[in-house]
Amino acid sequence: MAAFEYFKQHVAKASALLELSDDVQSKLMTPNRVLRAELTIPLEAGGTQTFPAYRVQFNNARGPYKGGIRFHPEADEDEVSALAAMMAIKCAVVGIPLGGAKGGVAVDPKKLSQKDLHLLAREYVKAFSDYIGPDQDIPAPDVYTNAEIMGVMLDEYERITGKSQPAMITGKPISLGGSLGRGTATADGSIEVLKALLEDRHLEADVLTAAIQGAGNAGGQAAHLLYSMGMSVVSIADSKGTLSSSEGLDIEKVLAFKEAGNHIPDAGSHMEGATIGASEDVLSAAADVLVPAALEEQITKENAESVQAGIILEVANGPITPEADASLCARGVVVIPDVLANAGGVTVSYFEWVQNRSGYYWSADIVREGMQTTMRKAYHAVASIAAERGVSLREASYALALERITEAMRGRGEI
Ligand code: GLU
Repeated sequence: MAAFEYFKQHVAKASALLELSDDVQSKLMTPNRVLRAELTIPLEAGGTQTFPAYRVQFNNARGPYKGGIRFHPEADEDEVSALAAMMAIKCAVVGIPLGGAKGGVAVDPKKLSQKDLHLLAREYVKAFSDYIGPDQDIPAPDVYTNAEIMGVMLDEYERITGKSQPAMITGKPISLGGSLGRGTATADGSIEVLKALLEDRHLEADVLTAAIQGAGNAGGQAAHLLYSMGMSVVSIADSKGTLSSSEGLDIEKVLAFKEAGNHIPDAGSHMEGATIGASEDVLSAAADVLVPAALEEQITKENAESVQAGIILEVANGPITPEADASLCARGVVVIPDVLANAGGVTVSYFEWVQNRSGYYWSADIVREGMQTTMRKAYHAVASIAAERGVSLREASYALALERITEAMRGRGEI
């Protein structure tokens, strides 16, 4: 099923809880603007190539549109729309004054040179420059884009507009006005929410085990933090395979190996007691906490039954399909949903935007404290709705967000 359809299902459930009318529901399911372009660049290897590109501006009732840009071969209008919609939900859940948007280019970045990617980033900004900007729509990194690409996009935007505008994009390099703490904010925020949940349930981290799917920026940092909390990380996977040890892996060693340019399963031969499995094996690992930190639609109705974890922390966007979500819920598995779990990234993006606009830059401690307070407050607001209404944390997150978004839309006379 298509990603946008999943979003609609989540909205429909939460709308029933809030008793929203069909008319309001349909407004909440419709993007404000869908922008499309074809980006053509000369390739360093010779010839030219054209890539479809999108920017979907979903809802800006609570503030300027906000959301990342992904470079991924499967990026399409449906996926980008679903992710844009989820950004509006995410910003509302954590209570930051921003709306939701997302961008995507259908490209396999591994097949392009660095020079090609820079040109593509510039073409993206040229195509959509009339619609983005500090008060309109503020992009950020997402899957296969990073601080370097944000820096190039900022440069292109400033060339076009002829003025310094660091607040037009977040997740930039620190030297160009980026915020301290933004690089690790997604994983840092997710672990803060997990800590709040564990405290709520009187669970101690050092008696729990964890399995992590993904060893990139978010997965790697999550693994590092779980390990530092004393949790035993029994499995970690990248796209090439899963590395496991029931005794617990030496995560710092595994991550150092990955950072040196190797694949996760290849670390197996350097570690006593570690076993290697297929990439998807991590999802059924015998662990208390499962952290999907890779791509969408990883836990489906086909493999949901094999999940052994009692807690799932959705660091990736949309890793569980609605059918799988329902079956996990029915089994009593606690899912900390993406729109809450990974909102630390956009929270620190908001802090970056505030710093750029005020020209006053915060210390790493101030950023961290602000992020932790924001994430804990959001968790407690969601958890109390879930307890009061007897619903999942996902339904409670959507209900909280839709309440805040509809309040803003009502205030504007939009509904
Ligand atoms: N791409 C990230 C997300 O999905 C961050 C978005 C942002 O910082 O604007 O939440």
